[in-house]
Amino acid sequence: MAEHACPHREKSRLTARERRLAHRRRMQDVAKLRCPWCGERFETLVDASGGGADYVEDCPVCCRPIEMHLAVDHDGIRLDAGRED
Ligand SMILES: [Zn+2]
Repeated sequence: MAEHACPHREKSRLTARERRLAHRRRMQDVAKLRCPWCGERFETLVDASGGGADYVEDCPVCCRPIEMHLAVDHDGIRLDAGRED
């Protein structure tokens, strides 16, 4: 009788574990930013698995190179867009 596992309990345990794993692995996120060239807003996928980074990504609207400054801290991911002069 005691062998009968409660399905609810098992499920909630699994979900909590999955949530924790998902949180730890949440190194990819969608950042919203504004193109410093044309002013259009767009979303881009950032990969923060390697920590902060500087890289260049072309604007999906005007195709000009945007300097991305990716910062990772305990609050999450922060992405700043700049333009090279
Ligand atoms: Zn643009």
